[in-house]
Amino acid sequence: MKSAEELLHELREKIHLYDYHYYVLAEPLVSDYDYDLLFKELEKLESENPQFFNLESPTQRVGKDLTKQFKPVTHQFPMISLANTYSESEVLDFDRRVKEILGENEKVEYVVEYKIDGASVSINYVDGKLKTAATRGDGTTGEEITQNVKTIKSVPLKLKNYPHPIFSLTNIEVRGEIYMDIKDFKLLNIEREKRGEKLFANPRNSSAGTLKLQDSQLVSKRPLKIFTYYLLSKQTGLQQQNDNLELLSALGFRINKDFQVCKSIEEVLHVCRKFEEQRDSLPFEIDGAVIKVNAIRQQNILGSIAKSPRWAVAFKFKAKQATTLLKAITWQVGRTGAVTPVAELDPVFLAGSTISRATLHNLEEIHRKDIRVNDLVVLEKGGDVIPKIVSVLLDERKVDSLPTEPPINCPGCNSVLYQPEDEVALYCENLECPAQIKGKLEHFASRTAMDIEGLGEALVDLFVEEKILKNVADIYDLKNHRETLIQIERLGEKSIDNLLSSIEKSKRQPFSKVLFAIGIRYVGAGVAKKLADHFLSLENLRKATKEELINVFEIGESIAESILQFFCDDKNLIIIERLQHHGLIFSTEKKTISENVFINKSFVLTGSLENFSREEAGEKIINFGGKVISSVSKKTDFVLAGEASGSKLDKAQTLGIKILTENDFLEMLKSVSGT
Ligand code: NAD
Repeated sequence: MKSAEELLHELREKIHLYDYHYYVLAEPLVSDYDYDLLFKELEKLESENPQFFNLESPTQRVGKDLTKQFKPVTHQFPMISLANTYSESEVLDFDRRVKEILGENEKVEYVVEYKIDGASVSINYVDGKLKTAATRGDGTTGEEITQNVKTIKSVPLKLKNYPHPIFSLTNIEVRGEIYMDIKDFKLLNIEREKRGEKLFANPRNSSAGTLKLQDSQLVSKRPLKIFTYYLLSKQTGLQQQNDNLELLSALGFRINKDFQVCKSIEEVLHVCRKFEEQRDSLPFEIDGAVIKVNAIRQQNILGSIAKSPRWAVAFKFKAKQATTLLKAITWQVGRTGAVTPVAELDPVFLAGSTISRATLHNLEEIHRKDIRVNDLVVLEKGGDVIPKIVSVLLDERKVDSLPTEPPINCPGCNSVLYQPEDEVALYCENLECPAQIKGKLEHFASRTAMDIEGLGEALVDLFVEEKILKNVADIYDLKNHRETLIQIERLGEKSIDNLLSSIEKSKRQPFSKVLFAIGIRYVGAGVAKKLADHFLSLENLRKATKEELINVFEIGESIAESILQFFCDDKNLIIIERLQHHGLIFSTEKKTISENVFINKSFVLTGSLENFSREEAGEKIINFGGKVISSVSKKTDFVLAGEASGSKLDKAQTLGIKILTENDFLEMLKSVSGT
């Protein structure tokens, strides 16, 4: 068994990693619910083992969003986080602690506000004008994102009613939350999907990600808004949080007017409950309520601890959950033949949509949670968009229920399923399996691949069942069967003509999309783009050896093997030949980039860099016309060596290859900026 010290170390490392993905990359690895559970586990373990106290623990620090890509800004007032409460009794504890410190004779008023789920920002106004805007960073130092924040229309560039008749506001810091309305967020994701870009999981991540873009032009196109909630100044005689909110509004800032001043903690709880009920009807996302001691004088007496003030607390709403009946577990065959379980549920409304299906991932997951047909299950929509089953109500389980068994035969074609030794997934190996064919066709026609409007799930099902489509190349022969198609029930002349014209239009999709569409295992949209940019034609890709494939930046062994295997199969080659014959694009021009130091040079990256992740550095090299390869050889032009570089650096030294420090690299980038 692991010791408490080992467990603490593991938990801290895990949370540091999750923090990095959440705050810096705005691409969380786990749901907020799972993160909060882990965080609580760490807090508990730390309080039980005070001898292992560590200042670097995530419990002692504000989650960091520092990327080193923007200029640092020191906050005039620390920008700390808020302690979380998850139940009414924890809110009562908070009230008790406040009163203990302030003493019995003090009357305490609270202000309760929506806890807006976005990214916090601090904006400094000097002499009435916006000077700098910064992210929270590590709470002491943030990153300067002034140009990005200035693009947000609801952020005033100049204060209204300035100079103010009562307060001196020559140097103030205004804090607020930058967020996106749910409707705008959905539209943004639809557009991203159309362009084949990665979707944001929720409005918070899209706001945080947008603020960290290097290009303010791009930021100005994103529908960001702000709600401000703090006005801080060393000079003013500001008295109360509610007055500050009104003052912010008078100065031209957007505030959320639904805040409430409460005279007692019971009233606070009532407002928190009311806010939770309102949650689903608001145009923006809130994940809780913020409870603040109203009087600034009392706030000052209460002060702060490392991570959060003692005078404010967040009341976090429960993750959105619903209970429903699991009617059946069906097994779905994907385009690669992987067979995955799906929960068929009694339809239930949860967080804005009706849910009747949820993925169960794999058999291991089903057994771990002991999920059985006819169970009452708890569904949750966390930070992620896809609902998941978090648990089973075991007390409600029928006595005669049986553990879930995997299928033996493929639900699509009845052939016997196969489970590779080192995988949890089951596979159907029959390439003629109609379920696999449907999956392949749907993928091929999807928006991020060939973008054939109208060829969705329903039509694909119909065409496969009618034996009109047997593989993706058949799609381009449909035009020869126009009359037959029009005769099919439910399909009119107009819809067939529309379909045929979008099929023709799809022939203009670039090589990278075609490569993604043909569905080589492990070749997702991003990998397809990298392969297309590197090899420039399908012919070159087909001829590439395993070594040449692995040498492409970010292409690993399993992708390389899968590509080789794909091209060994004659059936695939015949389909490709037919697609070529139909005029699909199987090559691309090399990007014309004006002459610069990166062009046609090969780079190997090693060690960790301070200013970029390796992936970011690699993308920059590729964008400027260079190549990134994974191993050092005589042909390598440069080795970019970060900290803790290992054997690659040694090899480069032995071979006498030019070694670049990060500073050299920055200089090279500077020399081409503007190209
Ligand atoms: P937080 O979001 O829980 O609360 C503090 C923040 O609330 C403030 O910084 C401010 O930005 C915001 N806020 C919104 N409305 C406010 C108002 N009216 N007044 C004052 N502040 C207001 O704290 P955090 O430190 O930013 O994030 C911690 C939370 O983030 C965790 O509880 C977890 O749910 C989530 N998280 C998730 C992951 C993940 O991997 N999924 C990783 C890290 C953190």
